[in-house]
Amino acid sequence: MSSEKKFPQGMKPLGPEGFRFSCNPQVPCFTRCCRKLELVLYPYDILRLKQRLRITSEEFLERYTGVVEGQNPFFPSVVLRMLPNAEYTCPFLDPAAGCTVYSDRPSACRTYPLERAVDRRPEAGRAKEFYFLVRHDYCLGHDQDRQWSVKEWLADQRLLPYNAMADRWAEMDTLFASNPWRGEGAAGPRQLLAFMICYNVDRFRDYVRDHDLLRRAGLDKARRRAIALDDEALLAFGFDWLQNLLTSR
Ligand code: SF4
Ligand code: SF4
Repeated sequence: MSSEKKFPQGMKPLGPEGFRFSCNPQVPCFTRCCRKLELVLYPYDILRLKQRLRITSEEFLERYTGVVEGQNPFFPSVVLRMLPNAEYTCPFLDPAAGCTVYSDRPSACRTYPLERAVDRRPEAGRAKEFYFLVRHDYCLGHDQDRQWSVKEWLADQRLLPYNAMADRWAEMDTLFASNPWRGEGAAGPRQLLAFMICYNVDRFRDYVRDHDLLRRAGLDKARRRAIALDDEALLAFGFDWLQNLLTSR
């Protein structure tokens, strides 16, 4: 990291001192954070949740999400739709038991109270990640005694596969932000294809089969088999294939 590296709004990344935090049914604010959220879902979040709920990605998108203008001017974001009750609670919240999809909850839910930033500038060499402590006034988890290092938190929350897929997704999002739709504009054929690949993995599986994409992409038998059996491998292939499609002349 360059010594002049500036972080947003004077935020300071966590160092070896770590942080204090605990979230469990005994904290008085339990589940308070699971309402009135604009929770952006990444492609891997949707994949995990639809598997957890044993529904297709199409059903998941229809039942639980909305499409909004996010930070990317050339590609929409998908957000989790809160329930239309007085509290706008998360659809996966059980007020007594907490999160009903806990082991497959979205990346944002498992990362809190941390926020992750990745420095991908070429001059920084290998991409470097930083973590910041986030504190919401109502969250009493910060007053608990349990001490964590960032590494312990990442392992405890099983964040590594989420972060690996988030990094791949960030590359795609950066590509989409360059307006690679060749003048087709919003909701043109390329953008619709990209949306399907990123968020509707089951529909993409049909597309791959109908267009014989794996064979045409020259993949060896082992990778074709892995993709046939595994949504995560299919999503990773989708990112590669899409990147190639959008960047080749
Ligand atoms: S997915 Fe789970 S942890 Fe995340 S907001 Fe909903 S209930 Fe809370
Ligand atoms: S507000 Fe903080 S401590 Fe309370 S349930 Fe949410 S994350 Fe846990």
